[in-house]
Parts: sequence; structure tokens; C-alpha cells
Amino acid sequence: MNLQGKVALVTGGSRGIGRAIALALAEQGAKVAFCHPDDAQAQDTLAELQKLTEAESLPADVSDEAQVEGMFDAVMSRFGRIDILVNNAGILRESPIAETKIDEFDRVIAVNLRGTFLASRAFVRRTEEGRIINIASDLGFLGREEMSAYTASKGAIIALTRTLARELAPKILVNAIAPGSIETDMTSPASMSPEQLAIDMATPLARFGQPEDIAAMACYLAGPQSNFITGQCFGVNGGSVMT
Ligand code: NAP
Repeated sequence: MNLQGKVALVTGGSRGIGRAIALALAEQGAKVAFCHPDDAQAQDTLAELQKLTEAESLPADVSDEAQVEGMFDAVMSRFGRIDILVNNAGILRESPIAETKIDEFDRVIAVNLRGTFLASRAFVRRTEEGRIINIASDLGFLGREEMSAYTASKGAIIALTRTLARELAPKILVNAIAPGSIETDMTSPASMSPEQLAIDMATPLARFGQPEDIAAMACYLAGPQSNFITGQCFGVNGGSVMT
């Protein structure tokens, strides 16, 4: 129970990787709030969290400044403090660049990158100490055909992680996780063409990871064992990127 007494907020925590991170932080003793734009899966996640800890589900779109500030106000009013922020909320849209509409490009950047900026700013305005953990992607290093907005947003999140790590040291530690292919609604072998699947399988471990693989790294970065680590981006990727 490394995180006893800590309060965590996970963006996009209703399903997939965010849900696994929220549950893992709760298992380590943290009180956990999570946000999501759509209530459908949030109730089930909230019920699971409440078996482990004090938990709060907050409907909020991370791309909206007022909603993000309101979400942090709600966390402060419920728990009185905030120690850990996991910027996990993200969306993926695929299209060849020639056919990508400006609105589609802007929406991906708004959720993935502006959302990470807005939540990080709101966090820093409310605490002097803590941890920020940003969920990037191995595609932020590798690039991927027909994913211009997504890969650009993830590369930018890695750069933002390094800047915030410098700016907020020594009291707030900022790190990123760059997952490889993880089996969730966003990426599943069943929904892929054979060509796409072949690309994702061309790694040393030749399989998809599970959300819990990312959650284990998030717990490490949220806890006392990582006290001397900031500005890093950890690949949890089956070997897709080696740095
Ligand atoms: P997912 O299963 O599609 O879940 C996405 C989560 O983000 C959901 O909880 C969703 O809420 C939430 N969300 C979407 N738009 C939001 C918004 N505007 N404001 C707040 N929350 C929002 O995706 P995932 O696979 O778990 O991915 C989680 C993160 O890991 C993303 O940043 C993704 O880019 C990154 N990642 C994933 C993989 C992978 O292979 N899965 C690989 C590398 C990186 P609703 O349920 O309400 O829609």
C-alpha cells in the first residue's frame, strides 16, 4: 500500500488503460477520481473502485478549460488535496493526410495534447508537490501512416513531459509512459486488418500488451520507489521501440 493517504485523478478512467490505472492506484491505497465524457461505462468502473477505496466519477471533457477546472475543484472539495495526476484520456483517428479534415486534426490535438496541458496546469495550480504521469505512445517515436494528428499529439506529449519535469522540479515529478499496442477498445486485434496486425506483431514479444501492464508502470511512477526519476518516457511496448 504505497499510496496510502494520496489522492489521484485519472483522466479517461472509465475504460481501457485509464480504468486499469485507476484500479491499480486504488489497490495501492490511493483515493481515486476519474473523468470521462460519456457516462456509459463509468458506473461500472466507479462501483469496482468503491470496493477498494473512496472514489469519484466526474463527467468532464479534458479539451474544455472550464470543465477541467471544474473537475479539479470537485476533487479538491471532495478530498481536500490532489497528489497524482494521470493524463490518460486520448482518442485516435485514422485517415490519409490528404483526406484529413482540419476539424478531425484539431479534435485529436485538443483531447490528447490540450487536455494534457489543461489538466497539468489545473493540477499545478492546486498542489505544490506531486506526480504527473502522461500517457504517450510508442507511435510518438515511430510515427505511423495515416495517423498524423495522433502521432504528432503523442510526440508533443513527450516533449511537454520533459519541459514540465524541468519547470516543476524538484517538488513535482513528471514522467511519461509510451505504451505499445495494448488490447483495449482503441486497439484490438479483432478490429484490425491483417496488414495492420502484421505491423503490430512485428515486435520482439510479438503480442499485444494488457492495460494492467501500463498500470504497473503508472503505480511505480506514482510511488516512493521512483523518487529520483523525472523527465523520462518509459516504453511499455514489447520491444517496439528500444531507447
Ligand atoms: P480507450 O479504451 O478508447 O479509452 C479512452 C478513455 O479516454 C475512455 O475512458 C474515454 O471515455 C476517455 N476519453 C476520450 N475522450 C475524452 C475526453 N475528451 N475527455 C475525457 N476523457 C476522454 O483507449 P485506451 O486504449 O485505454 O487508451 C488510453 C490512452 O493510452 C490514450 O491516451 C491512448 O492514446 C494511449 N495509448 C493506447 C494504446 C493502445 O494500444 N490501446 C497505445 C499507446 C497509447 P469514454 O468512455 O467516456 O469515451
